Amino acid sequence: MLDSHLKFHSNDGKRRILIVEDEFINREILIEMLKDNYSILSAETGEEALEIIRKNSDTLSLVLLDLILPGIHGHEVLCIMKSEPSLWSIPVIVLTADADSEVTSLSLGATDFISKPYPSREIIEARIQKTIELSEDRDIINSTERDSTTGLYNKEYFYRYAEQFDRFHKETVMDAIVVNVNHFQMINERYGKKHADQVLRRIGESLRSCVEESSGIVCRRESDIFLVYCLHRSDYQAILDSASDCMGEESDTGRIHLRMGVYAAVDKDIEIERRFYRAKMACDTVKGDYTRAIALYDKSLHESELFTQQLVEDFYDALDNKEFIINYQPKYDIRGSEPFVASAEALVRWQHPKHGLLSPGIFIPLFEDNGLIQKLDFYVWKAVSAQIRDWKDRYGKAVPVSVNFSRVDLYDPDMLSYLLELLEEYELDADELLLEITESAYTNDSEYIIEIVNKLRRHGFLIEMDDFGTGYSSLNMISNLPIDALKLDMMFVRNAFDKKQDTRIIEAILDIAKRLSLPVIAEGVETEEQMMALKELGCDIAQGYYFSKPVSADEFESFLSGSPEDANGLYPAGQMSENKASHITPIDPERSPFDEKGFTAK
Ligand code: C2E
Ligand code: CA
Ligand code: CA
Repeated sequence: MLDSHLKFHSNDGKRRILIVEDEFINREILIEMLKDNYSILSAETGEEALEIIRKNSDTLSLVLLDLILPGIHGHEVLCIMKSEPSLWSIPVIVLTADADSEVTSLSLGATDFISKPYPSREIIEARIQKTIELSEDRDIINSTERDSTTGLYNKEYFYRYAEQFDRFHKETVMDAIVVNVNHFQMINERYGKKHADQVLRRIGESLRSCVEESSGIVCRRESDIFLVYCLHRSDYQAILDSASDCMGEESDTGRIHLRMGVYAAVDKDIEIERRFYRAKMACDTVKGDYTRAIALYDKSLHESELFTQQLVEDFYDALDNKEFIINYQPKYDIRGSEPFVASAEALVRWQHPKHGLLSPGIFIPLFEDNGLIQKLDFYVWKAVSAQIRDWKDRYGKAVPVSVNFSRVDLYDPDMLSYLLELLEEYELDADELLLEITESAYTNDSEYIIEIVNKLRRHGFLIEMDDFGTGYSSLNMISNLPIDALKLDMMFVRNAFDKKQDTRIIEAILDIAKRLSLPVIAEGVETEEQMMALKELGCDIAQGYYFSKPVSADEFESFLSGSPEDANGLYPAGQMSENKASHITPIDPERSPFDEKGFTAK
């Protein structure tokens, strides 16, 4: 059984047993027999026994219980133990001279019995050992503590184990290590799930065999993230190398590229989860770094941890004090002779009282880790809805605004009803609040995501796939995904117009998008040259510093030419015609999926 030797430790690495026996001689005999192999506690009365059991419930491997005791009877001790959930998994062996009592004891939940006078030491030891093993096996099975792919502990169980280990080894210096697979999604896509699972299993096995000698334990936290808790060491590179080579020569994938974050010599006063959070922080610093694969949690990471902790603590005050402000960046329709504002993207900033204006790159990932993002996004969506309403009232036409979705938002069961409430409250149409969902949101758990996104679309929301090209969905997958527009990641524009001027990738994407009647938005457009080239290649919408940085709602109004009373002034006359979200107008209306929904030409 994997790692079972770790389960119950005392300071000296022995399992702990409580002997409940009022007769001095009997007690001493048992203690003498067992003290070499077990760590012994003893009690003389039932009351005293219960007190000790409760105090040591998570470290106690077994209770040896005499039935005839002063005060409460052994049977009563059994009954009480079986009625308290934290005690009921501790096995009890009853010590008795009365054969009749044995049956009652077993029916009350005792696991086994040893009759008096005591049999030989070997027999007693064998029974004790068997009882403990059985109960540990059962524990392990009951708590479904293993990850079915790798056979490693799951996160909850792993943390529990680690905490238990610490309780018994307070002075032992430990390391918390996070191991992550680089481009795991690509392995998944290219070689298939079966092979990818095999990779995970091999990595897990390798990590385990590296650390198990020194009481180390390993778990798979989620997808491709492994956690290791082990005695402090310094051969991190060796661990990483052996796990990287785990697929051996024969495999197509060959060497797997891993990265590792180490929080060495952990501070045991902080929670176990936080210790691994620190290791993960370190690990994240080498993401995408081809020169370094291992990073240690150090002073500078500690400072940034304190900073981010502070931001999390400040979150609710910030909401109350309206410190989150929304900027709008125009998206220009570049298909006609003159570009014109077709819509906007809402981008949040934090006007922090102490740290000044913070960009979303600093706080969004942080809030995505702890669920705060949903609260922030709901806040943004509401503010944006109010803004669309305001412009609609004052300009007589809607400026569709896209809001950013985090992956977690898609898992929020209240998300759809909240969006529908907003439409009702501000009397908006679903296609006036555009939803940007990143490509990477579709990569894991795609069936579920597709279902949710389809639901949104059935309610009339339009979906722009954000950061297209950064995930691993191939172009032919796109045709099966529920989306209404492709938003090319900035990197494409950047790469296409660098020194090499190689626009072939953009051309290919635009070509396929056109065949699928999917409008394409290019972001990060910074120069006129880029804009013209994109237009030439058939790109529909452009967004970027060339036109404008994200600006306040007030400033944004300057892009909406014409006077507020002039209903057509919102967009240059004649170019928008009746269609407000012109950039999502299907390129080939004949084949458009939106026609049925009545999306075009309102
Ligand atoms: P994104 O959705 O890809 O947003 C585009 C980012 O590119 C924005 O950064 C924008 O200011 C910037 N940008 C626009 N034009 C140009 C350009 O021409 N050149 C360059 N170099 N950059 C340009 P920002 O505002 O810092 O936002 C960063 C990311 O934060 C966004 O990436 C989005 O993923 C996230 N985000 C922003 N607001 C929200 C929000 O309300 N909710 C959620 N969940 N995420 C948000
Ligand atoms: Ca976006
Ligand atoms: Ca983007």
